[in-house]
Amino acid sequence: MNEQEREKWYLLQQRKYGIPVEYLKREFEDELSGKVPMDRPLEIPDKMEVVFKYSYGQQSRFFREIRENKKMYGAQCPQCGKVYCPPRAHCSLCYQPTEWVPLAGTGVIKTFTVQYISTSAFIKKVPFICAYVQLDGTDFLLMANMEVDDVARIKVGTRVKVVFREERQGTITDFYFEPME
Ligand SMILES: [Zn+2]
Repeated sequence: MNEQEREKWYLLQQRKYGIPVEYLKREFEDELSGKVPMDRPLEIPDKMEVVFKYSYGQQSRFFREIRENKKMYGAQCPQCGKVYCPPRAHCSLCYQPTEWVPLAGTGVIKTFTVQYISTSAFIKKVPFICAYVQLDGTDFLLMANMEVDDVARIKVGTRVKVVFREERQGTITDFYFEPME
C-alpha cells in the first residue's frame, strides 16, 4: 500500500475498533509498507468483547440482603463464634461452615487512606476515602469507600454507619460509609 492508502486504512480501523492511529501504526506499519514477507502469517486488528454472568457463590446472600432489604449480614462460625464481614462460607480458623447473622451496620474505622489520585473512572470523586471498617459485632475488617465532605474529619477510631444507595444493583458499591459524628 502507498502512504495515502495506509492512512485511509488506519482511519478505517480506528473508526471500526476505537484503536488510536499511533498504536495501529506501531503494530501494522511494517505489514502495510510491504516489509513483511508474503508467506509470513498475516495479522489484522480485531476486537473481542465479553459479556458474562458473575457468581458471588456462597457470599450471595450478603449482596441480596443489601439489594432487597438494605441489611448488612455477617457470617458467624458456630464453633469459635468469630463473625466475618465480608462474609466467608467457612471459618478460616476452624474450617466450619458459617451461619448468617444480621448486623447493625455501624462500626469503627481501623485504618484508612485518602485518595487524591485516581483512574478516570473515579477522578470526579477525589479526594475520597478508602477505609477498613470493623462493623459492630464482627471480628474482621471490611474495606469500603466513604463519602464525606471534609476528609480531614476522618480519623482512626471514627464511628461510621452504612448508607445504602437508592439504586442498588447487587454490587459492592451498593453501599458506603459515612461518619456518625
Ligand atoms: Zn471458627
